[in-house]
Amino acid sequence: MDVATFMEKQSQYLAPAYHRYVDILFVRGEDSYLYDSSGRKYLDFATGIATTVLGHCHPKVVKRAKDQLDKLVHLSVVAPYEPPVQLAEILSRYAPGDLGMCFFTNSGAESVEGALKLAKIFTRRPAVISFRGSFHGRTLGALSVTNSKGVYHYGYRPLLPDVYVTSYADPSQFPGRPDPKLAAELALEELNRLFLYSVSPEDVAAIIVEPALGEGGYIFAHPDFLKGIREICNKHGIVMIVDEVQTGMGRTGKMFACEHAHITPDIITMAKGIANGLPLGAVVSKRDIMAGWFPGSHGSTFGGNPVSCAAAIATIETIEEEGLIERAGKLGKQALATLKELGAHPAVTEVRGLGLMMAVEFVSSEVQNKVRKKCLENGLIVVYCGLKENVIRLMPPLNIADADLERGIEILKQAVQST
Ligand code: PLP
Repeated sequence: MDVATFMEKQSQYLAPAYHRYVDILFVRGEDSYLYDSSGRKYLDFATGIATTVLGHCHPKVVKRAKDQLDKLVHLSVVAPYEPPVQLAEILSRYAPGDLGMCFFTNSGAESVEGALKLAKIFTRRPAVISFRGSFHGRTLGALSVTNSKGVYHYGYRPLLPDVYVTSYADPSQFPGRPDPKLAAELALEELNRLFLYSVSPEDVAAIIVEPALGEGGYIFAHPDFLKGIREICNKHGIVMIVDEVQTGMGRTGKMFACEHAHITPDIITMAKGIANGLPLGAVVSKRDIMAGWFPGSHGSTFGGNPVSCAAAIATIETIEEEGLIERAGKLGKQALATLKELGAHPAVTEVRGLGLMMAVEFVSSEVQNKVRKKCLENGLIVVYCGLKENVIRLMPPLNIADADLERGIEILKQAVQST
């Protein structure tokens, strides 16, 4: 099918709700590259939004999924099956502290829904606190704690009641753009003021937080922020949910980004990179909390399906065998050092990153769009994020070849310099 006919059919048959960053028809993916219908290849720093952590169609993941397809595709709640148990055991080895029990889902939003429900049934409390700038998903519960853009709520009110929103440790949310450490202090003060003025902590089931804002602009909270939230949750018996849907699976140089703050959450939500592109998510929690879910109190027909779980096992085994978590930390540092050279450019407001989760912030969305377009012309796919859509985020595969990473960074640098 020619591209024009395809685009026409797409607009005829697919819901207009789908937003695409790039209007190219890709027909194949391999390693760090996508191939369009004319055979042109593009270096992919978008990875299906931080999902294909091992690049496209990683042979070990594909093989494991195919083997599972030949054996058993679906059982749901009819009877137990092996892959989710094997995967849960592996995840419990990686999850911080005593987080050792899993409930599997199909997506990030479904993991967030599960985590919120679990916190509520465990505490028997009604309220939830989330942060300005956070993105947690599109289903009504997850949307209710999402505050990265007002437009995401448009047309869907009323949302979940009893959700309270306070500032994230994002310097740009405070007057005078303080440094990240002070921003963490100010955000924690504001959180405590919420308890004084708006909601009693004894009514709060959960505080849900991203260790770094993803959709909200690749903002890396100072470790004091998560530490402070942990202390507040301990003090008031509140469940701390850390949403690692975008930051997890080694992307920041730790398996989970909350490890940088040396804290153990009560619940972690996962998805995206967990199965290198197959649909899977997980709610991982402490055993006593998960015990709040009696049989039948939560469920999912497809969640934890054997094929996705098999792919996830192969993904984590590969991350482990190839030392990709440490590699993400090391490569990220090198790449960031090169990217920082852009900091002097008048159109660039900030360059930041943690591991292979990196961002260049521009003075405006117009500049961002120009740079992104130039990158695409030169064969590099990057996507944007942030309230003002002025941030280009980079999330290359964790196993990207050194030369490909350098090439991608160079294309971006040249695009900025020629803008
Ligand atoms: N949580 C975070 C931190 C995310 O970045 C996202 C998606 O971008 C979600 C939840 C929702 O995930 P999904 O799109 O798989 O529902």
